[in-house]
Amino acid sequence: MSKDSPFDAAAPVLVPMPAERPYTYAVPSGMRVVPGSIVRVPLGPRQVAGIVWDGGADAVDARKLRPIEEVFDCPPIAGPMRRFVDWVAHYTLSAPGMVARMLLRAPEAFDPEPWTEGIVRTDALPDRMTAARARVLEAADGGLAWTRTGLAHAAGVSSTVIDGLKAQGVFETVMIPPRPVVAAPDPAYAQPQLAPDQQVAADMLRAGVAADGFGVTLLDGVTGSGKTEVYFEAVAEALEKGRQVLILLPEIALTHAFLERFQDRFGAKPGEWHSDLAPRMREKVWRQVAEGTVRVVAGARSALFLPFRELGLIVVDEEHDPAYKQEDRVFYNARDMAVVRGHLGGFPVVLSSATPSVESRVNATRGRYRHAVLSGRFAEAALPDLKAVDMRRAPPAKGSFLSPLLTEQIGATLEKGEQSLLFLNRRGYAPLTLCRVCGHRFGCPVCSAWLVEHRFRGQLVCHHCGHAEKRPEACPECGTFDHLAACGPGVERIAEEVVATFPEARTIVLSSDIVGGVRRLRLELEAIAKGDADIVIGTQLVAKGHNFPNMTLVGVVDADLGLANGDPRAAERTFQLLSQVTGRAGRTGKKSHGLLQTYQPDHPVMQAIVSGNAESFYAREIAERERAGLPPFGRLAGVIVSAATRAEAEGHARALRRAAPEAADIFVLGPAEAPLALVAGRHRFRLLVQGERRSDMQAFVRAMLANGPKQRGSVRVQVDIDPQSF
Ligand code: ADP
Ligand code: ZN
Repeated sequence: MSKDSPFDAAAPVLVPMPAERPYTYAVPSGMRVVPGSIVRVPLGPRQVAGIVWDGGADAVDARKLRPIEEVFDCPPIAGPMRRFVDWVAHYTLSAPGMVARMLLRAPEAFDPEPWTEGIVRTDALPDRMTAARARVLEAADGGLAWTRTGLAHAAGVSSTVIDGLKAQGVFETVMIPPRPVVAAPDPAYAQPQLAPDQQVAADMLRAGVAADGFGVTLLDGVTGSGKTEVYFEAVAEALEKGRQVLILLPEIALTHAFLERFQDRFGAKPGEWHSDLAPRMREKVWRQVAEGTVRVVAGARSALFLPFRELGLIVVDEEHDPAYKQEDRVFYNARDMAVVRGHLGGFPVVLSSATPSVESRVNATRGRYRHAVLSGRFAEAALPDLKAVDMRRAPPAKGSFLSPLLTEQIGATLEKGEQSLLFLNRRGYAPLTLCRVCGHRFGCPVCSAWLVEHRFRGQLVCHHCGHAEKRPEACPECGTFDHLAACGPGVERIAEEVVATFPEARTIVLSSDIVGGVRRLRLELEAIAKGDADIVIGTQLVAKGHNFPNMTLVGVVDADLGLANGDPRAAERTFQLLSQVTGRAGRTGKKSHGLLQTYQPDHPVMQAIVSGNAESFYAREIAERERAGLPPFGRLAGVIVSAATRAEAEGHARALRRAAPEAADIFVLGPAEAPLALVAGRHRFRLLVQGERRSDMQAFVRAMLANGPKQRGSVRVQVDIDPQSF
């Protein structure tokens, strides 16, 4: 570097843009940066926050570079986290900058939280004592720092009283550091008495954490067997070792009950992380995770990208849950990336589920993961008695969707003063509306989907793009009035039937569009748990996690629903969802029942659920996947091409296919119309790339994209490694 340069050096900085590699910036003399430093740099006309990256800067003349403007007073991003960003980018075929963007999502947090001005008691005494002054001195007894208004409030006086005392030197000004968002959890706060099989599993997990090193354990046990209690032992061990812990949860709606449970065990709540967090809280949590003040985070998948300093354990609860897959910008599965994060950080990962994914099951049986099994429900709680209702033999009355048997059981449950849950994974009133005269069906104008009637709102709604229109009285095609028919049920329609049959029962409908915000949902769930409802009708919102002590009947309105879509993962998903939802019944000692309304009672999924024989289901499903070379025995990648016109999308997809390299172990299927061929006015085609377990899918897809045509006009290409549906 030349002598007269005002810059000492250059540094690579990864900016939160679709940048394939870090950009090089000059480091002004006197500025100190290390890999991981968060810095402010110019980018075009703007200034952005970026991360000083690893590796040398490009050999360029530092005088020609733009300088780093500022180093934020913020702990640097730790090495394992930086390697994680690179790894995720490489694996998902995303620009590293776009992955870094997920890490830099709380910009206000890069500056330290301000300290607030406070006051603290001195030894001085006031010249004259009044009742108000006495109250202040009493409240301030103990020598802690207060804010002026906080102390006034606590003493029940106006703040001028405080000012008077301060003027006399009875209080002096101090600066108060920002308050931690959560108190420190205490690993020994309330240690449970574990049952023998729980103890075996807990010891195994504790040993994994104590041994210090990467390893994955699948914690596999029926709903209510105490998996949470058991993995809390691993959390305790990590805390004792002075490490931070991340607990991933699939649904935000579940976190509230979870936070309380955590508090019961550790005496303090974990930090929370999800998209509903208020911005100010988001910044605090981000900062305090980086500083190490927050020791445990319970969060949604994006919590994987929090800047932990000394992460020592990740627990993925409900590891099979599809909510772990992000299908937007960077397509990643948080369950799989958690395992990678553990590997890079050299610490253990626990995957917990009552219905593990086929992938994790195979990894456990082949010895790649340790397998901890809890086989029964804890204490006197028994699994519900499950039965399939053959709808071919016992069809419901015309215009009804509940079989006589299910209706009778709801009545009996009501009489005992216990609760019923009716599950139907479909929002709204009816999934299809048609004209009885001309047969016209109401479809979305910009998606290949039917409009769903929402009767509470008087609208027809597209569940893919949100398009909504008023439900007309006449058919737009033939003009006939009052001949529109609602076809099939949604939860609102089931509620209509239930209210008509059991007018005296307290009925609640729970689906995301009706409930509204997370807070409302939490209140509803608490009300149900307290017994303030007799019959709950819900979508998958109610299927998972919740503990309703008085719920003794679960009725699945349409158990076949998830099997119909032709996706090879449909059987697995249906098995998981039905196990979860029937698992809501019988969480205490009471006798409980589950009824599955089905037209395919002989289907292996129904058989496995009804007989409680999960093993038979897994064995069969695994054998089928192996035969077909499907994951985890083979690998898949989806390449989705979308464009404003069908021809453009299809043309580009065909050209990409022609650009695929020659490979003995990888082939390309398609292009075919994507499962949803038209979404929000964009036409979608999909190529499916299928390879063997050891195939380098990334290299193949990268070559295909590089050899193929450039993305022009409205065309957009998205890569989905390990797609959820295939
Ligand atoms: P899972 O996560 O497997 O569904 P949970 O951990 O939620 O199971 O346990 C189910 C219920 O049993 C919870 O209410 C939990 O508090 C209780 N429980 C489980 N194990 C114990 C234990 N060892 N001591 C006390 N309560 C327990
Ligand atoms: Zn639509």
